[in-house]
Amino acid sequence: MSSSTSESLEGTISEIARRLSEPERMCAWGGCTKQFTGPTPPRGWVTLTIAGAHNERRCVLCPKHARELDGLLKGIGGAFGDIVGSA
Ligand SMILES: [Zn+2]
Repeated sequence: MSSSTSESLEGTISEIARRLSEPERMCAWGGCTKQFTGPTPPRGWVTLTIAGAHNERRCVLCPKHARELDGLLKGIGGAFGDIVGSA
């Protein structure tokens, strides 16, 4: 393996590691690659906490997918509209 290939591979691995360490900054919607920078989600993003029996996962949705989820879930009647931007 040449040194440039090795450096490129190291760069790719460190980029993946960086993204994995900050999954809460990338929209969790399948296929969406939107992400934000900074310590807190910008206005329009929502933070979700998915609680399982033995673990808990936090993730974010971009404004477009927050609206889509809001429309898909029954019984919350636009509830995300109340918390958008408050995360
Ligand atoms: Zn999204």
